[in-house]
Amino acid sequence: MQRDAIISRASDYAKEGGLAADLSRLVAYRSISQSEGKPEDLMAYLTDEMQPRLADMGFQTEISDNPRAGGAPLLLATRHEGDDLPTVLIYGHGDVCNGEAHRWREGLDPFLLKQEGDRLYGRGTADNKIQHLINIKALDLLIKTTGRLGFNAKIILEMAEETGSFGLREFFEAKRNALQADVLIASDGPRLAADTPTMFMGSRGGMSFDLVVNLREGDHHSGNFGGLLADPVIILSHAIATIVDRRGQIQIPEWRPTSLTPEIRAALKDLPPRRHDADWGEADLSPSERVFGWNSMAVLAISAGNIAAPQNAISGSARATCQLRFVVGTDMDDILPALRRHLDAHGFSMVEVRPGRGEAFKATRFSPDHPWVKFVEQSVAASSGKAPHVLPNLAGSLPNDAFTDILGLPTVWIPHSHAECGQHGPNEHALLSIAEEGMRIMTALFLDIADKATNLKRGS
Ligand SMILES: [Zn+2]
Repeated sequence: MQRDAIISRASDYAKEGGLAADLSRLVAYRSISQSEGKPEDLMAYLTDEMQPRLADMGFQTEISDNPRAGGAPLLLATRHEGDDLPTVLIYGHGDVCNGEAHRWREGLDPFLLKQEGDRLYGRGTADNKIQHLINIKALDLLIKTTGRLGFNAKIILEMAEETGSFGLREFFEAKRNALQADVLIASDGPRLAADTPTMFMGSRGGMSFDLVVNLREGDHHSGNFGGLLADPVIILSHAIATIVDRRGQIQIPEWRPTSLTPEIRAALKDLPPRRHDADWGEADLSPSERVFGWNSMAVLAISAGNIAAPQNAISGSARATCQLRFVVGTDMDDILPALRRHLDAHGFSMVEVRPGRGEAFKATRFSPDHPWVKFVEQSVAASSGKAPHVLPNLAGSLPNDAFTDILGLPTVWIPHSHAECGQHGPNEHALLSIAEEGMRIMTALFLDIADKATNLKRGS
């Protein structure tokens, strides 16, 4: 079958309902890796859905226990077509965040796919089920229409990305040989603009921590003790206000990255504008520099007293869960020690710093000049007819360091979602129009890899 016919078949799969039907099966698995989830649902996504699907495509599949106690299983699927061919590693995560059904709009259920126009609603639609489905279906199409891929492929599916890819790095260390490849090509996160393909080669890191002010047991009458007993909420608020100023600019010198070089600024210069508040973030930087080239702190949740029924009382304790997103050029091992030193220097030794429960993500950034990156960029430009937005790193966090640092791979991410998809919140949705273009892009890319397989083989 000719190239154009294969690509138009890929497009039809999205346009004629095949993709939505497959995605609705995937969304129905409550494969939650966070507090609402059950281990058997994580396993079922692999055993009942992915393993048969990949075996049917001629892949050898193996489900492994997580190397860390209490961790989720992983699936590795391999299709070997020749020793002289390049090997493409593809990654996806089948786990999703908590459903939080009560926060979704009337008429939507996180685990029941609902299509409204271009939108496909459901938990995990955008993050990450439609993204790995597209890549797997594109491979499937090549196999079904031409009888082969024309290269070797390995697919790794983890079920713990939303808990910091718990155990993924240990798994990679243990399976380094089985995972050997020439490149990682994967999809996660959003496009920069919905109508233009995006590529990125790394991600910001992410580290969560708690700030706790625990002064005494129980609450005390705010009249009888007001003015006498210190208020932990006010102390915590002031402590936070020394870490970031009123527009969120980071005040801890060690938290300010050294990597916003003229080259990175040039790479970020022509990206399209993003939704942003003009009076927020690092004042001297452009919005693209703030989100792709700089660090940011967020207060994810804050707790003291009972907001639903406040008492006339001074709380005994207060707690804020915070997070630093950081680019390369930030010493990850010094993030919490620097915070400790900063709080002490500002007279907040009573504010306790506790490491977050989830895994921290490392920051990575891979060169846009690598031959694989250039090859993918040319392919995506040709198949979509658009110059893709090429980012040095995603603003969000991914376990990209497992691929770059442990497996030593060049990494190219081609997201099939958009920034307003609602991932991690209510009303998560994927756009069918992006998925349709994604099907064409990935199918064309895999055809191009098959076409240039010998040249792409590592070392040549
Ligand atoms: Zn996510």
